Amino acid sequence: MHRFPPDHYIAGIRAGDRLVLSRAITLVESQLESDQALALAVLEQVLPQTGQSVRIGITGVPGVGKSTFIEAFGKHLTDSGKKVAVLAIDPTSQRSHGSILGDKTRMETLSMDPRAYIRPTPSGGSLGGVANKTRETMLLCEAAGFEVILIETVGVGQSETLVHGMVDFFLLLMLAGAGDELQGMKRGIMELADAIAITKADGDNAAAAERARLDYQNALHLFPPASTSWTPPVLTCSALQNQGIADLWHIINNHQTQLTQNGHRDRNRQQQNLDWLHNTIRQQLETRFYNQPGLRERLADVEEAVRKGAVLPLQAARLLLDQP
Ligand code: GDP
Repeated sequence: MHRFPPDHYIAGIRAGDRLVLSRAITLVESQLESDQALALAVLEQVLPQTGQSVRIGITGVPGVGKSTFIEAFGKHLTDSGKKVAVLAIDPTSQRSHGSILGDKTRMETLSMDPRAYIRPTPSGGSLGGVANKTRETMLLCEAAGFEVILIETVGVGQSETLVHGMVDFFLLLMLAGAGDELQGMKRGIMELADAIAITKADGDNAAAAERARLDYQNALHLFPPASTSWTPPVLTCSALQNQGIADLWHIINNHQTQLTQNGHRDRNRQQQNLDWLHNTIRQQLETRFYNQPGLRERLADVEEAVRKGAVLPLQAARLLLDQP
């Protein structure tokens, strides 16, 4: 990839040039030290233009209808003149090469929309590392004038917590008729949700969706009230019939107004930045530790000793950390 001087990226991003934005995101995602330094220089310069968007996280199990929903929701926003960026964190792409936005057939309409920008999930590295790249990408998109950022993730692991830690509003999509065991499993995620939408509330599924809505509404009443004084609503939607989509945007706007007024929006973003700081410190310490010259060989010896039971893992770790 050809590298340009920082001003090329900075001016291009500020002008909303999508090609330059994509190039800058590629720098952010690069593992090369020099690319990361360049990305940081760009980010520092565009920082004053960031922070203005509504940041929305969207999660749900595979098949719940995330991409269909994002397509309809994104279209609703671009039709009203908003510029929308769609990003993703896909824990499964760390293992396979697939990525939830990589599949070209997803979000076909939105991907052709001049007001929308869709970026597949970065691959490689730890989930925490990928999350940090998504944070940086989000800032670049904001500087490029995107007013709504949608961050999609699959509801199968810790990626929801990561996404929750970088957005203003966290939306959980759920299916009607999912078993009790699934609902139990989802409890932790339900506690993070600012709204729950029961998807595919159309045709034969409409009545079941409405029953599920009431069930989840009752379940949410059992949770302790949020410190933000926001009560998460449960609604039904159909992305295919474009029902509930506008309502949801209305809910998100109410949430933004309420939390901006009571100060929770800013406090939340401050806390998220502190978390980002500490995550970065942890990750860089780890990278530096494992990249030390000769560490690999010493680690192999120590692993052998641990395997034989000659030394406790705790002792071994101390030894490596104290005398690298
Ligand atoms: P994802 O894996 O969560 O991204 O789910 P998809 O958006 O790919 O949707 C999974 C399946 O559900 C697809 O076959 C969609 O056509 C279908 N689906 C998505 N939204 C709706 C909806 O609103 N109504 C109905 N009836 N089907 C839907």
